[in-house]
Amino acid sequence: MHKKVIRVIVNTEGVVQVTEREVAIERLATVINECRKCPLWENTHHAVPGDGSSRADLMLIGEAPGKQEDLTGKPFVGRAGKLLEGLLSGIGLSRTDVFIANIVKHRPPGNRDPRDEEIRACTPYLEEQIRIIAPKVIVMLGRHSSRYILSLLSVEFDRITDIRGKVYEGTLFGHPVRLIPTLHPAAALYNPGYREALEEDFQALGRELARVLGSAREE
Ligand code: URA
Repeated sequence: MHKKVIRVIVNTEGVVQVTEREVAIERLATVINECRKCPLWENTHHAVPGDGSSRADLMLIGEAPGKQEDLTGKPFVGRAGKLLEGLLSGIGLSRTDVFIANIVKHRPPGNRDPRDEEIRACTPYLEEQIRIIAPKVIVMLGRHSSRYILSLLSVEFDRITDIRGKVYEGTLFGHPVRLIPTLHPAAALYNPGYREALEEDFQALGRELARVLGSAREE
């Protein structure tokens, strides 16, 4: 159903086909931009609905927008974003190949942790994004997104370092999916040990994607 082409645009680059899935993601972004379900929007410049390909096999989920993300309306465009782009490029991907989202879509003041009630108000948007895109693999960046997404499979954990890099298989919203929790790139910026762990987890991600997609990416 999602692959049905519903709009054809002819531009200088040729013909661009817009699918139902893309339209659904665009519509949802409009709703998110106008969201007032919790007070977080009051101190922000932009909502950050998510960015990338709505046909992506891989979705990455962070915690919440930071300062640069709030200013631009795009996820992971600050220093942690540069690190994330490097990790993706290490497995042959760019940010346009994947979809990047966050648990909460407006920046919490001073980058504080999102509160439970904010997560409760905002996660229906993330769930709808997962439903529409139906990625084959989801990587959760950091403990907040790992806790939330794994709770959907009734998986609990104490420390993110205990479970990082493991592959959890399950079904989310009717679609089979592999879930990989890892560290948040911001935590790895100043900690070489975390950075090494993150790089290791992304290599494991590359192998998992090769398996899932049946491509020749695996060495
Ligand atoms: N950290 C996040 O968790 N998300 C962003 O979009 C940026 C930084």
